[in-house]
Amino acid sequence: MSKRTLLTYFSSSSSSTPLENARQPKTQRVEFCASDIISDPGTRKPIDEYPFEIRDQVKRAYALRGPTQQSVGFTFPRTWQSGEWRSFQRHWFDTYDWLEYSESKDVAFCFYCYLFFESGKSDKWGSNVFAKVGIGKWKKALEKFDKHGSSHSHCNTRLKCEDFMNQRTSVSQKFVKHSKEEEIRYKIRLSSSLDVARFLIMQGL
Ligand SMILES: [Zn+2]
Repeated sequence: MSKRTLLTYFSSSSSSTPLENARQPKTQRVEFCASDIISDPGTRKPIDEYPFEIRDQVKRAYALRGPTQQSVGFTFPRTWQSGEWRSFQRHWFDTYDWLEYSESKDVAFCFYCYLFFESGKSDKWGSNVFAKVGIGKWKKALEKFDKHGSSHSHCNTRLKCEDFMNQRTSVSQKFVKHSKEEEIRYKIRLSSSLDVARFLIMQGL
């Protein structure tokens, strides 16, 4: 093939590619990576707004990272509420491990309810508020946290999160178990073959 022909060949084939691409429906590969995690719970989008096929990836990424809890030394802003200057208290994280704080909105959220509360389900103690709106009135915050923490809807989301994270472990355990069974079956097949070979040798075949 001459140089000219080669050039013509490649240029003609490459010129057809965009046309072909235009005809084919574009399948966009959607993925959620650790770098997509938004640490401020006040600026995250709700889980049900992510494409269905990546929701598990989103939940896993956040669950592995854990709730956003500011470290010692962070100054929570004080606001005038019910006749006093009040602010979020860092030591609340020690009592409520599910608690998250949004610096941009100065409100608190529930980590488990953000990940696993399904809108529309019965919600007596604010799973929807703790998941999406946030709690920003600090006067009776502990009372609200206690009620929320012991509510059915919250306990349910916590269990869902634990089950969800355990699934991976159980899948890998099943795989190991399966591999061991395969190994045993292989050894049985091998020893049977050796028995047959030994038998044939003894028969002089
Ligand atoms: Zn909750």
